[in-house]
Amino acid sequence: MKPLGPIPPGFTAIDGELAIAGRKASAIVAEAGRTPLFVYDRALLDARVVQLRAAMPQRLAIHFAVKANPFGPLLSHMNGLVDGFDIASGGELALVEAVGIDPAAVSFAGPGKRDDELELAIAKGVTLNLESAREAERALAIANRLGVVPRLAIRVNPDFDLKGSGMKMGGGAKPFGVDADKVPALARRLVDAGADWRGFHIFAGSQALDAAAIIETQAQTLELAARLAEQAGVALPKCNLGGGFGIPYFPGDKPVDIAAVGAALAERFAQLPAVLQDTRFCIELGRYLVGEAGVYLTRVIDRKESHGDVYLVTDGGLHHQLAASGNFGTVVRRNYPSAIATRFDAPVEEEASVVGCLCTPLDRLADKGGFPRAVEGDLVAIFCAGAYGASASPMMFLGQGPAAEILI
Ligand SMILES: *Cc1c(COP(=O)(O)O)cnc(C)c1O
Repeated sequence: MKPLGPIPPGFTAIDGELAIAGRKASAIVAEAGRTPLFVYDRALLDARVVQLRAAMPQRLAIHFAVKANPFGPLLSHMNGLVDGFDIASGGELALVEAVGIDPAAVSFAGPGKRDDELELAIAKGVTLNLESAREAERALAIANRLGVVPRLAIRVNPDFDLKGSGMKMGGGAKPFGVDADKVPALARRLVDAGADWRGFHIFAGSQALDAAAIIETQAQTLELAARLAEQAGVALPKCNLGGGFGIPYFPGDKPVDIAAVGAALAERFAQLPAVLQDTRFCIELGRYLVGEAGVYLTRVIDRKESHGDVYLVTDGGLHHQLAASGNFGTVVRRNYPSAIATRFDAPVEEEASVVGCLCTPLDRLADKGGFPRAVEGDLVAIFCAGAYGASASPMMFLGQGPAAEILI
């Protein structure tokens, strides 16, 4: 038997069944009308932000990275919880606008922004996190043509990365951001061109669970920001310190010690160099805010045995849960937390693999896990499904189409 990842806190059993937000999984499926279904729990989203704010210095604003979960009702809910939104495309700009998010609270990072995307963002007053000197020139030219003052920040490619992070986004050659040594000159250029200068965006990595690594990266980020601002001879109205707080997906993973991160950051904030005294700081988090609040429910269509192995064949799969199948940036496939939702408090009775309905051996949601004996019609729950699920999976593969989504 292979171990399953840890089920996040906040889920209970009612009449033996998994309950999400105090409601039985089968009742939520009945309301949504079908499986596969992503369920996002409002109360868990609220609690997460409350805990985070309590741990972090008050001076630190909290932004949501939309790409982790762009589901409209969830975005709308997050609008009441966080201080800003980070988007990575014109498509995401349309999504945040559709739910009434103020463009002034939005920043736009990401390589390869097209002219039409730059134009829309500039016209609406979104802050652009510029990824290159050429992008900066295109943005200035577009703003000039529109006759508006663009809000411009520079995304810095730092000369370090976030240690232990699942995806490294800084350090060495990268398509993201402007190399640190070229940043001071570009900052001067933007200020001289009359842009509304917004400062730096420094993102060093993702999915780190080690508080010490996050603390070290934040310290390095603050030092780099101060050094670059001094070299440029410009003030720093804002500084986005990145994020990278991970969540426990796999056996043995432990949650980030956010109290330690917050305490260390408060200490740093108490001794900022002069050039950062008036700077407004934020972090941008995706999976940490929403990942554990989501559950993917899929129904067992067939139970079969092959050479003695049990397969629970479901109506879901990697077309909605690429990450859980181990095909989204993981090197070694390990099991996400999962359970038979309709037998949530039953003891482990057998070893079974949960597979999807796609005709590929990659389509495996749980590999040789220990489960109660499940049959056709049972619901399987895959936890930690609130981030990089629905929107980060190839839903059109094999003509399957999207899963349903619901915020409760
Ligand atoms: C993807 C991304 C994030 C969010 O990462 P999480 O691991 O979900 O917290 C934040 N900022 C930038 C620039 C990103 O590309």
